Amino acid sequence: MDKTFFREWITEIARLVDARREELTRLDTAIGDGDHGTNLARGFGAALEALRSADPPTPGEVLVTVGRTLISTVGGASGPLYGTAFRRAGKALGDALEVDLAGLHEALRAGLAGVQQLGGAVEGDKTMVDAFAPAVAALGEAVVAGKAMGDALAAAAQAAEQGSAATVPLRARKGRASYLGERSIGHQDPGSVSTALVFAALHRVGA
Ligand code: ADP
Ligand code: MG
Ligand code: MG
Repeated sequence: MDKTFFREWITEIARLVDARREELTRLDTAIGDGDHGTNLARGFGAALEALRSADPPTPGEVLVTVGRTLISTVGGASGPLYGTAFRRAGKALGDALEVDLAGLHEALRAGLAGVQQLGGAVEGDKTMVDAFAPAVAALGEAVVAGKAMGDALAAAAQAAEQGSAATVPLRARKGRASYLGERSIGHQDPGSVSTALVFAALHRVGA
């Protein structure tokens, strides 16, 4: 995977977020403040602009540029969290021009660690971590099993999707939704849905 692959990934995320913007906002209206769709559409739109003007020379720089842009353009919880994830993932890639599946897994693992360090959420808290952690784990298993890239990315996307679906019966323990206590039960976490889109985009680009 080269820098073009990573740019295509971000382009696909922006496309999916835009297509699902209203759904993300609707989910965030139920247990948050109703801005998740607009937050991410703005953030990934700005990230695409930044990639167009900066044309970063490496996969790592592509992701660091995206992370920096998300932090500076998206308010609320998800901007700093996604921003940190992409920045950390980019840093983990170093200055490599080509990234293999194991390298991608390591980078995403570093990104997840950044999210958990910043936000303090663990699996089961009804956040983006509930999609992110199983996706990274599935990718790691696929690497160990020596799976082909398309199969590995399919497994990661499916794990993210399942992890997100599993947030419905949970009670939120982090973020705005946690203010609702019991009333957060029965709704899907919007950040876990957007994280599932991030992995769906990766699968589409790498399939
Ligand atoms: P805000 O809640 O500030 O309006 P968004 O609506 O853009 O921000 O994002 C909300 C999402 O952010 C939640 O659905 C959840 O997945 C994620 N989130 C919130 N707090 C945390 C946290 N501490 N750790 C991980 N993810 C979190
Ligand atoms: Mg919100
Ligand atoms: Mg908000």
